[in-house]
Amino acid sequence: MTAAQNHRHDRSQQWLAMLGLPSSAPTPSACGRRAPRRASKRADRGRSARLAPADLRAIVLERDGGCVFPYCRASAAVCELHHVLAFKDGGTTNADNLVAVCVRHHSLVQHPPGSTEHWTIRIADDGLPEAIPPARIDPRQRPIRCDRHRLAS
Ligand SMILES: [Zn+2]
Repeated sequence: MTAAQNHRHDRSQQWLAMLGLPSSAPTPSACGRRAPRRASKRADRGRSARLAPADLRAIVLERDGGCVFPYCRASAAVCELHHVLAFKDGGTTNADNLVAVCVRHHSLVQHPPGSTEHWTIRIADDGLPEAIPPARIDPRQRPIRCDRHRLAS
């Protein structure tokens, strides 16, 4: 396990303790969700299509397990896909540029950057999405992961 994985594992152990769950939960490598790279590559559409085909949608929904917005409990069945970098701005229709969000939270990430309501969604270095709140909510704008990804990372 690398130092970064160790750090994430320690953080997940802290979360497990806070939630009253046993610390013998699976290690990050056993439970971390990522889009399967080979399947994702086959399903990726790049710049050829804005809308994700069913196979790509299934990969992203499987990875995210529901809305990636912090503390949201919306299931994958009611989620839409959001381009992290907008298609109109050169973003691709690939698993590493798409995240699952519910309709309510999709509207929050569509606010113009810089607006007091704008949330930024990004894919972290470990391949999992995280949300950055507007400065009015957190002046330091620290990234937050949804519960499912916090426990898996
Ligand atoms: Zn949501």
